Amino acid sequence: MHYISTRQTPATPSRTFSDILLEGLAPDGGLYLPEDYPQLSAADLADLRVTLDNEGYAALAARVLALFIDDIPAADLQAITARAYTTPAFSDPQIVPVTRLDNAGVDLWIAHLSNGPTAAFKDMAMQLLGELFEYELGRRGDWLTIVGATSGDTGSAAEYALRGRPGLSVVMLTPAGRMTAFQRAQMFSLLDDNIVNVAVDGVFDDCQDLVKAVNMDADFKAAWHIGAVNSINWARLVAQVVYYVATWLRVTTARGLAGGDAVDARVSVVVPSGNFGNVCAAHIARSMGVPLDTLVVATNENDVLDEFFRTGVYRVRTGDQTLATSSPSMDISKASNFERFVFDMLGRDGQRVAELFGKALERDGYFDLSDTPEFAQMRSAYGFVSGTSSHAARLEEIRRTEDESGYLVDPHTADGMHVARQWASELEMPVVVMETALPVKFAETVVEATGRLPQVPERFADIEGRPQKVESLGNDVEALKALIEERVRPVN
Ligand SMILES: *Cc1c(COP(=O)(O)O)cnc(C)c1O
Repeated sequence: MHYISTRQTPATPSRTFSDILLEGLAPDGGLYLPEDYPQLSAADLADLRVTLDNEGYAALAARVLALFIDDIPAADLQAITARAYTTPAFSDPQIVPVTRLDNAGVDLWIAHLSNGPTAAFKDMAMQLLGELFEYELGRRGDWLTIVGATSGDTGSAAEYALRGRPGLSVVMLTPAGRMTAFQRAQMFSLLDDNIVNVAVDGVFDDCQDLVKAVNMDADFKAAWHIGAVNSINWARLVAQVVYYVATWLRVTTARGLAGGDAVDARVSVVVPSGNFGNVCAAHIARSMGVPLDTLVVATNENDVLDEFFRTGVYRVRTGDQTLATSSPSMDISKASNFERFVFDMLGRDGQRVAELFGKALERDGYFDLSDTPEFAQMRSAYGFVSGTSSHAARLEEIRRTEDESGYLVDPHTADGMHVARQWASELEMPVVVMETALPVKFAETVVEATGRLPQVPERFADIEGRPQKVESLGNDVEALKALIEERVRPVN
């Protein structure tokens, strides 16, 4: 299996999985995708069901990953996934269980993606990425310094996945005083030598600008082996494809449809979305033949994606136009994985994608595909529809789901529930909402909705009382470089 860039020209050489694992963007500015998507027949799906039932999630993951990765031996992939998807890092031995909500009026399910170490779905990809990085760096005798910026979920998921790993250091910038107490405690209580938490005197955009500035200094970047774990990394995406396979298998099994006719039982999914990483994995699973029917993109007030799926116009927002909402992990101004879908939608025409994302967006701030035959077939060909939620709608949904079904959702998942209900009458049932975080992470909003604090899962019980370690930094790139030089230990 080889990988190509979304801005590919016929002359660009393709790459292997291990080549792109440690890279971010392709050299032409595009994003990597496999040359083609492996296809799963009804017999393959039946086979994967046996693997999931008998051997569990990690074994399923190894089999799905092997379809995309041919430069890591199968036995090594099995060992990697067995270490990545395990208890007690994940609170449930099924890793991604599904449940049907009672009394919801429609056939509504939840796929629990947030049982990992940081209680958000990003653990699903990061736990695997940590194992893959360690494996590949060990194989190459190389080392890596991850420099990132986070407003909360990504940074903690990355740190829990990379802590204590040989050859890997993490320098994570956070906006001082702008995370929840729980998010701070999650990150700053990691006392491992290879984790450096930094509180920058600034906002999230300042942190991101500092990371960019460090990456612009080619000599510094090379000397310190600077890498990234952002959501455009292909390995994160492929890790997410696995849980769409597992979700379809588990929901159909639970409905008693385990035979060869199960493939006729299509399932719709609703995905609380920001950078389009989660739902892009659903698109890939669907393209592989996993019987997913409609893919519902759920956004909050930051509705870049909803606007595109309604109108065909993709218009990125500026920082000022990006609202701070009660589902903060979806507060984005542009969706960094969206280019991957547009590449597929436009028949994998790299030159056209380069024109749209490389030129039109920079020149005009938007592009318009409303007149294209591809956009006209969006739902029939790709299954996509979309919707949005407001703060009030999320609060109402948190209350309603708890009243109806006794299940408490976080504000991101509530966004998905709200949009699921908007579309319910037009969807193939059952419909599965992907749970992207647990309520404990966003306690303030849950209290606003219900008047009560969410239950704290056992593994987080004493987290806010643990000792914390964090370095303060001015908004200054030279100071950041000095900190990296002082704190990161190269390995050879
Ligand atoms: C990151 C995140 C999202 C958005 O996921 P994308 O892959 O960026 O679309 C939604 N909810 C939560 C809780 C997240 O952490």
